[in-house]
Amino acid sequence: MSKLIVLGGGVCGIYAGLEAQKADIPVQLFEKESSLGGLAAGHKRGENWFDLGVHMLHAFDQDVFETCAEAMGEERIEVPLKAHIKWMGKQYHYPLRGRDILSGLPPHKLIYCMAGLIIAEIINTPEVPDEDAESALIDLYGEPLYKFFFEGFTHRYWGMHPQELSAEFIRRKMPRLSAVDVFKNLLSWLKVTNPKDNREGALRFETLHYSKTGTETLARRLAQQLSVQGGEISSDSAIDQVFHDGALITGIETSGQRFGSADDLYTSTIPITEFIPRMNPLPPAEVLTAAKSLSYKPMVVYALLVKKDRCMDALYTYYRDCIFHRVGEPKNAGLEVKPAGQTTLIVEMTCEVGDAKWTGDRFEEVVADLESEGLCKKADIVEKHLIHSRYAYPIFKKGFETHLDIIQKYLSRFTNLRSTGRQGAFTYPNMHSAMRMGADAATDLLKNRS
Ligand SMILES: Cc1cc2nc3c(=O)[nH]c(=O)nc-3n(C[C@H](O)[C@H](O)[C@H](O)COP(=O)(O)OP(=O)(O)OC[C@H]3O[C@@H](n4cnc5c(N)ncnc54)[C@H](O)[C@@H]3O)c2cc1C
Repeated sequence: MSKLIVLGGGVCGIYAGLEAQKADIPVQLFEKESSLGGLAAGHKRGENWFDLGVHMLHAFDQDVFETCAEAMGEERIEVPLKAHIKWMGKQYHYPLRGRDILSGLPPHKLIYCMAGLIIAEIINTPEVPDEDAESALIDLYGEPLYKFFFEGFTHRYWGMHPQELSAEFIRRKMPRLSAVDVFKNLLSWLKVTNPKDNREGALRFETLHYSKTGTETLARRLAQQLSVQGGEISSDSAIDQVFHDGALITGIETSGQRFGSADDLYTSTIPITEFIPRMNPLPPAEVLTAAKSLSYKPMVVYALLVKKDRCMDALYTYYRDCIFHRVGEPKNAGLEVKPAGQTTLIVEMTCEVGDAKWTGDRFEEVVADLESEGLCKKADIVEKHLIHSRYAYPIFKKGFETHLDIIQKYLSRFTNLRSTGRQGAFTYPNMHSAMRMGADAATDLLKNRS
């Protein structure tokens, strides 16, 4: 009987396995690291659990949420979303509302930016594709606001000017800030209309899902379910080779051992840039070049134990002008911190592998910014750990679509393979969407087989 072989044990891979089990298909999963969860894995350091950036489950996909809630059982905690963004010394709600950006501006800039927004709305022609992230941002927010807020922030975050980034990222990630919405928001701010009347209002009242040990619960419990239902899970098992005959995947190799056959089905959730060069025989040069042209933005988390009961009143806060771009305090979402009376901070930074942020050599700057933001003092920090991710964010560099298309077209000939999830599809899902992608990949493979 054929089985589903899953490459990568993040939430997408685990969920693909659970979906296949619903159709009584045996599952074998291989994960490179010693524990499962991928980006959503928990990291135990000392007595405490740390996430790679506070990871909260959204309930937007009802089916996925019900499966997760059942798996997490009594460990699940409901948490109202409370997030902030700090900019120019002021604190605003996150997701950022139009009126927040504008209320941070001096009156003459405010009028200038509003005029820019209105002009952007009038001249925006959605049918004409934007050339790059800069023109997409100007289309959405107008030139003055782009120059004032988005240009510098985007540049610092990605290490690339918006002119070098694809418009696709902006289309997928940024909400359109219409001048009409801004006026509506301003009216609700002045209590003239009901704040729940707009989409931004709805987002602010979202309930998120977490646990006393952080994000580790979700992957652990889902993997437990996969295993109890007969799934075979191998950790510390990096996929080194993927064999094929040009039409079907015929097996994989990890630590010198070969598994699988052409009768099996394969869901890969490992970075697509890692999958392609592991194919044996190697794909055509054009496909290898396309894979080399795609890249991911690494990140590092400075995971701190702090001798203070609380550092902030939000779950997390975004910073526009600090060395870090986000700081989370998971205790505010119900994380149990040991010893009592102390708290943990998750300080996130995008970086490059091996640079001074990655190696921890910019700790003093991190501390200086934590101090100046009033979060904690150097003397309060009792533990510092570094948690790295080489594959945190796919970079939507200008022209990436062509490279991705070449790879996806090539892989589509393998009828028993789906490359999916955040890394396998080179995209930006949240956990619930990554799980949905896993379920869809498994369903699609099974449909194709019958
Ligand atoms: C900082 C940050 C914060 C986030 N916060 C949230 C949040 O609050 N809520 C939310 O819903 N989402 C959040 N996300 C998004 C979420 O983490 C991801 O979308 C989701 O976890 C992706 O799951 P995945 O299984 O597709 O990919 P991954 O988690 O990347 O899984 C891929 C797996 O493949 C393994 N692998 C790689 N190479 C090999 C190999 N050669 N052999 C075997 N295995 C291999 C990896 O070790 C990994 O376990 C956040 C992401 C980041 C970066």
